Formats: sequence, structure tokens, C-alpha cells
Amino acid sequence: MVKNELTEIRIEDFTREGEGIGHVDGYTLFVKDALVGDTVVARVTKANKEYGYGRVEKILIPSPDRVSAGCPVARRCGGCRLQELNYSAQLAWKQKFVRDTLRKIGGFRELQVSPVIGMDEPFRYRNKAQYPVAVVKEKDGSAHIGAGFYAGRTHSLIEAEDCLLTPEVYSEILRAFLEYMRECRVTAYDEKTGRGLVRHLLIREAFSTGEILVCPVINGTKLPESEHFVRRMKKIKNVVSICVNVNRSRSNVILGNEVASLSGEPYITDILGGLTFRISPRSFYQVNPVQTEKLYLAALGAAALTGNETVYDLYCGIGTISLFLARKAKEVYGVEIVPDAIRDAKQNAVRNGIENAHFYAGAAEELVVRGYFEPGVPCPHADVVVLDPPRKGCDASLIDAVLRMSPDRVVYVSCDPATLARDLRLFVNGGYEVKVVQPVDMFPQTTHVETVVLLSKVHTPRG
Ligand code: SAH
Repeated sequence: MVKNELTEIRIEDFTREGEGIGHVDGYTLFVKDALVGDTVVARVTKANKEYGYGRVEKILIPSPDRVSAGCPVARRCGGCRLQELNYSAQLAWKQKFVRDTLRKIGGFRELQVSPVIGMDEPFRYRNKAQYPVAVVKEKDGSAHIGAGFYAGRTHSLIEAEDCLLTPEVYSEILRAFLEYMRECRVTAYDEKTGRGLVRHLLIREAFSTGEILVCPVINGTKLPESEHFVRRMKKIKNVVSICVNVNRSRSNVILGNEVASLSGEPYITDILGGLTFRISPRSFYQVNPVQTEKLYLAALGAAALTGNETVYDLYCGIGTISLFLARKAKEVYGVEIVPDAIRDAKQNAVRNGIENAHFYAGAAEELVVRGYFEPGVPCPHADVVVLDPPRKGCDASLIDAVLRMSPDRVVYVSCDPATLARDLRLFVNGGYEVKVVQPVDMFPQTTHVETVVLLSKVHTPRG
């Protein structure tokens, strides 16, 4: 194959980046915007020796699973790479993706992967949005301040007021915020020069209570005419918490460390599984509450608690899983690296009247490896360990420490099948057996998939 060549190709699979994969005479082509089951004419955009990249020139036979995307910027934005695939086909692909990844990276050949737990309504499920705000230059030389999303893997802004994954009221809030910026001549931050004030607008809604938090992220200490901003926001139903986050760094990290409240408490309150949680702007909180409940119930089911167990919840965030577990366990110990989240976790335990959950701030690998949660609190033996790490998975030293502790069960909640596969291999080499692999669709329309895995200690028969 050579660049610009046109070729007819049937798409057999999908990459995690959402590119279609097909073969022509043994040559592999990754085709942007092509779906499994499509037959397309692709134009080769880059040709290596054994594989190349292309884009769809024409769809000859559309996949029977093809649907039209409801979002006008679905392709350019790249967030919803699966929006043109019907939902049951999305779920089938995710199940296969988990199975294939566990095989390719973990070497697990015989594992049963359960069907993915999906949603009834796979749109408008996100409770959190972080809109980049920037100056948008028009072709005619004029410029205005806009907000929206970054085009896939770039930092060029696609203006979009409505996103089909977030509540409709978010576009009203965003519009009102941009109007305030215009009226009060507030500048937008420019990543290249490091100048300008507003970087992002963060919005969070607690779906069960309806409470909404609005928090601009600024490259400065004060939002000009903030009373005007507050007044505007308060006109919008259910906006109860208005904050400002200060981020003066030159990095890509969205939130800075400082949060000041402009109106109301600097947090909102959500209810999940009958428990109440307080969510601050900087704390991690699952973005899809409907599926979170299903995910936690799957984790709880895997933990199979009787009331006598000591349980660790490592990477506990604001203690959500910990409190779910605490109602069924003897003691729960939660560890999390963000101190604000631990503060929320402790508060959450108190407000739910839970006394058997204990929280410690620090890196899981440091605390558990050294053997005490804080001076004077040695890590007790755990019967069950729950792990819910970020995408990069667990540190090998932590897995070693957990293996030495030898809990009966390990429940691994993962947002990345690749690092999950790598870590499961370490557990299996260390004497554990994979019992259940249950994917949960926390992110419909995207290629992300969450998985709950139950590992059990292998009991070697006596004699
Ligand atoms: N279980 C929680 C949070 C899961 S997200 C929930 O369901 O809401 C992963 C969490 O791990 C984040 O809160 C992140 O801040 C935390 N984290 C990242 N690296 C860590 C580390 N080395 N040790 C402990 N926590 C860490």
C-alpha cells in the first residue's frame, strides 16, 4: 500500500481509539470513522511496511449496527467514538475487548467474561463537565470567547454548547457564564502565552438531589465582578454551590489546589445506594451515578461479606465503596492519595452514622508496603482487599504487599483492561485464581469500559 491509494476493505474489529481494523491481502489498515461490519473504500493516509492508516472515502455497505450520531460534532470531538454504533453492539464490542485484552496482555486464554452491564438510557448520564474556555479566532479575523471541547487528542477548541452526555441545563449554565464573561470583559486563558484569566468551567450535578455546583477555574486570584456572576448563576434552578478554583500553573492539569466559595457550601450532596455523599470540586466522584450503583453492587457481591471481615478499600476516593462495604463488614480501611477526598470520606462516614470505616491519606503503595496507615496505626490483616486504581493500575510493590498479606479475596475494579490484565497476571502468579470478570458500562458512546474482577486465594489441598 502507498499513501493516497484507494482500497476496498471490510472492517472486522475496532481499536480502543475507535478506529476500524481491516485487512487487505494480509496488510492491516486502521481506518478512522469506520465501524465493525462496514465495507468501505478507504484512502490510505499513512503506509508503513506491515500496517497503515486510512480514512473513509465512501461507505459501500454500512454495518447493520450503524446508527446516525445525534451529536453534530461527534466525529470531530472524538469523545463519543462509538456514537455511530447501536448500543447493544457497543456492549458486545466492550465484552470482546475485555476478553481479547486479558488474553493478549495477561495471557488468560480460558477466562469467561460476563456480558457487560449496560444502561437503559445511554445518554445524558454524566454528572460532571469541564469545558475549556478560549478565544476563538474566525477566518475573517474577528475573535470571540468560546467554550466546548478539545478535538480528539489536540488542544484545539470545538465550540459546542450542548453535549449529549451531560444534563441539558449545563448548556444554559455555560451560555450564562459566557455572557457574564462578555459583559464584564473577563479574559480567557491562552495556553500558549499563559495570559488571560478563565481556563475552564467545571459543572457538577448530584443527580439524586438535583444540586448543582458551578466552578470556574482561573489563572488569577479573583473573578472580576463576581457578584454579577453569582447573581446570574443563582437564577438557574438548583445551582446551590458557586465556587472558584485557582490554577496558575502552566501545566495541562485542569484544577488547581485552591477553592474559594462565592455562594453556598463548597460542595454538593448526592445519594447513592441509600448513602449520602458530599462532593467537593476537587474530589474524585464517579461520573455516571446510575451505573456506579451497579458497579458497587457488583464489587460488594464479589466481596461476599458476612459481617466478620476486615476489608481494605485502596484508592478509595471520597469513600464511596468503603461505605457500601462497611454496612456488611467488621472494619473497613480506606486509603487515598488526595487529602481533600479523605476529608470528604471522613465526613461522609460521620453523616451516614458509619463508625467502622477508617480513612487515611497517602499513596496506597507507600502505606501498605511500610505496614502502617499512620504512626501508631499498623495495617491489620485484611480478609478482603478492594482495589480501584486509576488507569495506570497498581504499583507492583503494592501487589507484592497484598500477596504477602494473603487475603481470602481481592476485588479489582479497573477502568483500563490493559493494566488490569497485567496486574491480574501478578496475582495469579502469586497464588490467586480469577473467579469472575464482570464489565460494567460506565461510559456509553465511548470506548472506555470498567471491569470488576474477583480473585480468590487458591487453597492447596492437604496431603
Ligand atoms: N473508589 C473510588 C475512587 C476510584 S478512582 C470511587 O469509586 O469513587 C481512583 C482514585 O485513586 C482517585 O481518587 C485517585 O485520587 C486515587 N489515587 C491515585 N493514585 C493513588 C495512589 N498511589 N494511592 C492511593 N490513591 C491513589
